[in-house]
Amino acid sequence: MFLYRYGAAGRLAAGESPAAARILLSDPFSVPPERWELGRPVDLSAVPLAPPAHPGKIVGIGRNYREHAAELGNPMPPEPLLFLKAPTSLIGHGAAVILPPESERVEYEGEIAVVVGRRLQRASEEEARAGLFGVTCACDVTARDLQRKDATFARGKSFDTFCPLGPAIRLGPPDGPLTVVTRVNGEERQRGSTDEMEWGLVELLVYVSRMMTLLPGDLLLTGTPAGVGPLADGDRIEVEVGGVGILANPVRRWEGA
Ligand code: MG
Repeated sequence: MFLYRYGAAGRLAAGESPAAARILLSDPFSVPPERWELGRPVDLSAVPLAPPAHPGKIVGIGRNYREHAAELGNPMPPEPLLFLKAPTSLIGHGAAVILPPESERVEYEGEIAVVVGRRLQRASEEEARAGLFGVTCACDVTARDLQRKDATFARGKSFDTFCPLGPAIRLGPPDGPLTVVTRVNGEERQRGSTDEMEWGLVELLVYVSRMMTLLPGDLLLTGTPAGVGPLADGDRIEVEVGGVGILANPVRRWEGA
């Protein structure tokens, strides 16, 4: 089952595919999916999709794949490296990533995103697994030059449009390893699997919940595999998470306003 948000208001719908979606009448975080009340069918091929989560915070993980740490000349950290990305950077499937004039090198980072389903504070592994609402595709777009220049990642990670998310949330914890593939203009640039991660999805929720309480809707970007590279005006990025979906976004240069 997938959870979608659509239209300017970010209305909720659920179903096995965009063509088979129906309006969701229940609160997705207080009612378990098997008891969701569904209304009329809605044709999601005809309306723009919104980011499927509305997080209070986006927690990013740096260097969760050894090969990616090495390609940027960084050592593997002894524990997960956390950063925060502004929720205002979110865009949905199909919306444009805008290259800001303040950066000369904006890069894609295809990632598996975890959506939190319940309050997690110093969670046990069991609590974290139960609190994993679902997974979706994300691109952790990064102004690499500004990230390198600054002592924190805040600026380089948080420009408007720097967090494409979607197209939908696949509900529940994954039942096996997940793959993530990034393509630019149809050409494969990155390929990774949860099997290659230094810290797994549930382990990351446990870890992050020690520092900050995670709330329903919060988003965890779980790190990018090797193969990051620059984006240019006119590019099209695709991030595919196996069994979850394909997130596609065009790239445009900033044209003022
Ligand atoms: Mg990243």
